Amino acid sequence: MCGVSSRRVAIVTGGARGIGAAITLRLLQDGYRVASVSRQDSALGNLSEMEPYVKDDYIHLCCDITHVSSIHRMIDSVVQAFGRIDVLVNNAGILTSSTVEETNEVEWSSVIGTNLTSPFFTIQAALPYLRKASAGRIINISSNAGRMGGVSNSVAYAASKGGLISLTYALAHRLARCGITVNCIAPGPVETEMFGSYSADDIQRVKSRIPIGRLGSPREIAAAVSYFSGEDSGSTTGAVLDINGGLFMG
Ligand code: NDP
Repeated sequence: MCGVSSRRVAIVTGGARGIGAAITLRLLQDGYRVASVSRQDSALGNLSEMEPYVKDDYIHLCCDITHVSSIHRMIDSVVQAFGRIDVLVNNAGILTSSTVEETNEVEWSSVIGTNLTSPFFTIQAALPYLRKASAGRIINISSNAGRMGGVSNSVAYAASKGGLISLTYALAHRLARCGITVNCIAPGPVETEMFGSYSADDIQRVKSRIPIGRLGSPREIAAAVSYFSGEDSGSTTGAVLDINGGLFMG
């Protein structure tokens, strides 16, 4: 074990790039020790900015969160490295773009599995440690698609992200008395590889509908995670924060 310190420890799934890399960097800057998780051996995003933290405060773990046994190994590795878990950010996700007719069982299961089932089992595996934390925090990264049904043909994606919002409500109720808050962020379009996978037509159409006239940035999502992670956000639970440039106001 690298040494248990009084500093808070966060796990960020999908921390290798895009929004997850921005969240990882922000939490490091806020003073957390951070474990970033993805299916690749090392992180890609913000590498030079992460450099000062690499020795003591930051680890990247290779883990496919669709396998419950891998999740448990990952949680064990985090505890081995940092001794505690205070914050879990369920950010990893996948997007597919099949039409209703094209969506087969394999694709449906893969999207629901990654975006909804895996966050649940990651929470379940981290729970014994979050219960011991003085201010346990769970933050789920959903999507505007979970609010409005999505912009393209990604039906399974919209269903998974809507489910993640409901999971947030269900767990917020059940974990409130343990001092664990469970909150959700529903980003609109954000400039990352995932958004870039939409067709040029879809991208143009979406951009033209955003009231503030631009895409969101990963840093803006990370700033909200910073709030939800902090000890001062203890009375915020079961919240869904829409960060979408005004696409959905509710
Ligand atoms: P990216 O595709 O850029 O990154 C996704 C991350 O998730 C990668 O690090 C990827 O790493 C990881 N990941 C995917 N599957 C798994 C898995 N089975 N096990 C472990 N890690 C996995 O996406 P974004 O940064 O754009 O999105 C981050 C989150 O924000 C997602 O949940 C997404 O749905 C949500 N979101 C994004 C929006 C956008 O416009 N970008 C809008 C609304 C919500 P690797 O492939 O190496 O495993």
